[in-house]
Amino acid sequence: MTAADEAQGLFSTLTGSETVGLWSAPGRVNLIGEHTDYNDGFVFPFATPHRTYVALGRRTDGRIRVVSTFDTAPVEVALADLDAFFPERRDEIVEWARYPLGVAWALLQATGKDAASVTGVDLAFASDVPVGAGLSSSAAIEGATGSALNDVWELGLDRVALAQAGRRAENEAVGAPTGIMDQMASMLGETDAGTFLDCRSLDAQVVELGFEAAGLELMVIDTRVAHAHSTGGYGERRAACERGAEAMKVPALRDVRVDQLPRVEELVDEKTYRRVRHVVTENQRVLDTVRTLREKGPRAIGDLLYASHASMRDDFEISVPELDLAVETARENGAIGARMTGGGFGGSAIALIDRDAVPAVREAMLAAFAAAGHTEPHVFTVRPSQGARRDG
Ligand code: ADP
Ligand code: MG
Repeated sequence: MTAADEAQGLFSTLTGSETVGLWSAPGRVNLIGEHTDYNDGFVFPFATPHRTYVALGRRTDGRIRVVSTFDTAPVEVALADLDAFFPERRDEIVEWARYPLGVAWALLQATGKDAASVTGVDLAFASDVPVGAGLSSSAAIEGATGSALNDVWELGLDRVALAQAGRRAENEAVGAPTGIMDQMASMLGETDAGTFLDCRSLDAQVVELGFEAAGLELMVIDTRVAHAHSTGGYGERRAACERGAEAMKVPALRDVRVDQLPRVEELVDEKTYRRVRHVVTENQRVLDTVRTLREKGPRAIGDLLYASHASMRDDFEISVPELDLAVETARENGAIGARMTGGGFGGSAIALIDRDAVPAVREAMLAAFAAAGHTEPHVFTVRPSQGARRDG
């Protein structure tokens, strides 16, 4: 059964009535541009074919009820009470339900609408986006919720505003301090294209990737190493970036060019310098990737992907042995380029490979992980896909 059917089925089990419609939003993979978002820099993600679906129906009692195949116990609150829960009393709501309820709250906040002026709703979710694999199942559930409520409540918000509502939900209703890349990628994605995003202006351009025409596949190697946020690694990186920007007297590292790095080196300690060098060179690599794609096509971007990985491994120090092994195995088996993707300390690597090479690279990957004594990775390919949409 497809996730779309599952959402419809869950909805009828819950309500016994008809839906108003079905909406969906995808996960995302970041092609390049890591830890650049909170430095006001550039990112270049694309939307996955994996999607989260929501079947929606109206209610007449001003309440919002959410249910998911992940956790079939429904969660229900009065729309007028969302304000009371978010952000202060969010802990009283089970974590997964804070994502969709948080989006409903953020949408009402963004539009200044009174809860009494919009219809109550039932929302049933089902998804084929793997959770915690670095594909951003969180942006998918936010995007599906935002798209559905925007239509049914006739809010008239554009896709950037919906992405912002998703981010606000994640930051304030869930309590996860993330940037806006995931939501923008999920909202704006197009088939066989990436979303080139300026995280300062939120200016987004759809850039053709041309993987199909070039006979290329994008492989994801989910190492199944869980991100360990508790190590404080993320906070340390952010603090180093702030120190670097301060030393250079600029608002953010986005404002430092590669040719200014020698000056940074004079001003900060060695470790801070390496953190800064990653961000500054990574921003340049995003720009170079977009330009190279336009001028020469996808086969020419491989070295930028490899360089991005080396920078995260050596300068930002956010890789783990499993991710390094995935990238090296891809390289040894003829990949055009490969890198870890996502925040680091676990999660997934990506590799750009010839379509014909997919089975051989997959086998080599499984063999290399087994030989190293690592947990068997999940290996699959993703075609850059369409962003949030109404499906029925
Ligand atoms: P990811 O990297 O997949 O985005 P996150 O920790 O950011 O990982 O978000 C995953 C969380 O989002 C899940 O633990 C769950 O709370 C929520 N979530 C995502 N998709 C769904 C869904 N279809 N149904 C219910 N909750 C979901
Ligand atoms: Mg997430």
